[in-house]
Amino acid sequence: MIQSESPIRAYALSEEDVLDGLETAAEGLTQAQADRRLEKYGPNEIAFRKTPAWLRFLRQFNDPMVIILLLTAAVTGVLTALGSHMLPDTIVIVSVVVLNAVLGFVQEGKAEGALDALRNMMVPECLVLRDGERQRLPSRLLVPGDIVVLEAGDKIPADLRFIDVSNLHVDESSLTGESVPVEKITAALSGESLVPGDQRNIGFSGTYVSQGTGRAAVFATGGATAFGQIADMVKSAGNEATPLQRKLQEFVRSLIFAILAVGAFNFILGIYLGYAISYSFLGAVSLVVAAIPEMLPALVTSVLALSGVVMARRKALIRRLPAAETLGATSVICSDKTGTLTENRMTVTRVYAGGQIFTVSGGSKTLEGTFSLDGPVSVPDHLALQRVLEVGYDCNDARVHGGDAIGDPTEVALRVAGVRAGLITAGVRRIEEMPFDSSTKFMAVLVDRDGQRCIYVKGAPEVVLGMCDQEIDERGDAAPLREARVSQTATAFASDALRTLGFAFKVVAPDKPDLRIEDLEGLCFAGLQGMIDPPKQSAIEAVAACRQAGIRTVMITGDHPGTAQAVAHQLGIDGAHVLTGVELSVLSEDALRETVEKVSVYARVAPEHKKAIAEALKANGHVVAMTGDGVNDAPALKAADIGIAMGVGGTEVAKEAADMVLEDDNFATIVAAVEEGRHAWNNLQKAILYTLPTNAAQALLILGAVSLASLVPLFSARFVLEPVQILWVNLLDSVLLTMPLMLEAKERGLLLAPPRAADTHIIDTLFLQRVLALGLAIALPGFLVYYYFGSAAVNAQGEIIDALLLTQAQTAAFWGILLAHFGYLVSARSVRRSAFTFNPFGNRWLLGGIMLSVLIRLIPTLVPEAAALFRTAPFPMDWWPVILLCFLPSFIVIESDKFLRTALSSKPR
Ligand code: ATP
Repeated sequence: MIQSESPIRAYALSEEDVLDGLETAAEGLTQAQADRRLEKYGPNEIAFRKTPAWLRFLRQFNDPMVIILLLTAAVTGVLTALGSHMLPDTIVIVSVVVLNAVLGFVQEGKAEGALDALRNMMVPECLVLRDGERQRLPSRLLVPGDIVVLEAGDKIPADLRFIDVSNLHVDESSLTGESVPVEKITAALSGESLVPGDQRNIGFSGTYVSQGTGRAAVFATGGATAFGQIADMVKSAGNEATPLQRKLQEFVRSLIFAILAVGAFNFILGIYLGYAISYSFLGAVSLVVAAIPEMLPALVTSVLALSGVVMARRKALIRRLPAAETLGATSVICSDKTGTLTENRMTVTRVYAGGQIFTVSGGSKTLEGTFSLDGPVSVPDHLALQRVLEVGYDCNDARVHGGDAIGDPTEVALRVAGVRAGLITAGVRRIEEMPFDSSTKFMAVLVDRDGQRCIYVKGAPEVVLGMCDQEIDERGDAAPLREARVSQTATAFASDALRTLGFAFKVVAPDKPDLRIEDLEGLCFAGLQGMIDPPKQSAIEAVAACRQAGIRTVMITGDHPGTAQAVAHQLGIDGAHVLTGVELSVLSEDALRETVEKVSVYARVAPEHKKAIAEALKANGHVVAMTGDGVNDAPALKAADIGIAMGVGGTEVAKEAADMVLEDDNFATIVAAVEEGRHAWNNLQKAILYTLPTNAAQALLILGAVSLASLVPLFSARFVLEPVQILWVNLLDSVLLTMPLMLEAKERGLLLAPPRAADTHIIDTLFLQRVLALGLAIALPGFLVYYYFGSAAVNAQGEIIDALLLTQAQTAAFWGILLAHFGYLVSARSVRRSAFTFNPFGNRWLLGGIMLSVLIRLIPTLVPEAAALFRTAPFPMDWWPVILLCFLPSFIVIESDKFLRTALSSKPR
């Protein structure tokens, strides 16, 4: 078969030879053949080389902090060998580093798993002929010999040879760099080793159909395709740094230098004060490690990836992680009308023909229905009515089989109207077509009707009217065109929220072979059909929810301004001003920026206008989400802050350009995703707000002890916490207690407040003040506990007179600090609301984290061998009441901070 040979042969063969070579036929493979080939050639995908688990574990050690710690362990190891008693420090540092790597590995695994799950949910699909039937299949199931049916917007799923094309253009820029789409042909090509750009009858995997339709035979799949051979082209979703992540990376980077300087100062001061060099060194290292919030950027990935999984459960698939972060700040959602805000279940209810308006009964779920005009009418008695229905029925790609309708809902509605009138397809043969395109807004066909050739056109009424110079009258005869009357009727239909199409025809020579654009003039206008498309109930509710959440809903549609306005009214969107694409395109940049603030409904819009609207809104400082489905929507989706593609009705091009894909094409899903985005941002804020003060507290503990050593003799004897204990607090406690905050459940009323400003920084001055205040509120109890219990252990010169008591006092401080963390943690579950307003047992992960950190802390306190390692010792039970008091300062500080902020400003942070 061809796949095993060079793909170059495929372009040189004729269509028949290609089919023979691939052992297939124009009707495609049978399912049994396809199954056998799938087994032989494997799935049509480029295998991801997954990093093995052991390598991911080792990567945890590739971190400056860990390297510093391991070097420190090496130094203490050498010092031990030279006779210092530092073996416990070496053991503890190494085990803390290993344990931390395990926790990091588990957390990263969770984030990776979440990202993988998101990637797997976005399976590209394609239309394939199997067993002679068209089937939509995941592209990974394609095999050589499959016949693929392609249309504008499709991604070419494998390397294939075209066997049938109609005006088919392919954008190959991703492969060849050539930005102009290439028109494809089916004829065999001659020439030795043509470059891909010259292989005009070949479609390459990963490129896009920009226009037209076609059929092609797959000859290479997966790794055998031209793309597959360039393996680095495989890009994975969701690995970009988000804006917040970048900001945090910068923040950590600038902090590192300051902290290293303080660490060095601390070391020199330690030696000056007379601590042993090794002890001062360990103190300095612990300070550096404790103070640097190294896990911040990773925290963002974890929270956003987990949030992506929740969004996916609510049918919004995140393609790029930054979108999960930006979603929460969305202030304007620009949505298509048809199918997103409305049901996309259309039914023709009114027909204008021969100057009369007929009504049509029968709902969207049945093929039964009647036509009436002051009472029921028989369609064949009204030739004008019959003609307009005929054009709608035959200039149509939808199929209605029994109760099933397949195709574009507008066309299904027209087809059903024809069925209700008793029309049938027999005797009508289509010779050529110009497919519908949302920028031209019409579709035309050349048909042979019982030997007579006709051009049938349907489309937006004003477009169709522009092609006509006469109309048919009541008796079905040609009469002068009364354009004003038609336009008035179209407007009247539109203001009743009817989607309205115009229809026209022309009889041509019986041997006319093809249909050209210049044929579309001098047509005879046949009439109008108006169809209802009810708004989705869920969309009406979601628009109301958006209003409460301070998010503006903007409707952008290709439909008539009147229809747009009427539908906007039904949905609760402000339709006071409606702007059309034509009006919009003459506005200057400044005028447009001003206009987009006032106008929420845009009609008769072409895809390029959507981009201009998104850009103007962005320039005004909005965070813009924009939906799209067609090939031409890609630039608008890229221009918006969050491009949203339709999962069901959207083209592969739109999906690829989007940041998020809606599995159910529903506006309400966008609002659900925004809610999750706000939730994710809140949890990030909580986790970051929790982590940073704990870093500050530990730095203060060491710095304070060293600086106050000359005043407080106790401090010159030992640090409040032993360096190994500081590492414990920083690396174990903070991970165990921060992780649960990332899983905090949604707070009530997330969609009741306005969106955060686009330029909100999590780390601002107020925030730094809070970090400092809380750092003190955690460190101070540590100092006090140590002082209260330990001051009798040293004399006035700072000499140790009771080493056990000193160790016990340190152990008490080690516990006191944990309690101070708890005091802060229980309140950190909400950034604004008081801890007294939510259920203290609401987050079971947090309770688990608290319990686990207490349990593992018991090991060094109660097990003598571990106590020797961590330099701890059991202390009398009656010390506990004092230790428990350590819970209060941090709790009081954060609660009063929340209270004051709420009281002083009505503007939430
Ligand atoms: P939205 O952008 O909200 O999805 P829409 O579906 O109305 O709106 P288009 O699909 O671009 O936008 O349609 C624009 C206009 O083209 C319609 O108002 C209608 O008049 C006409 N039209 C729509 N579908 C067809 C079709 N299949 N054939 C001919 N004309 C059509």
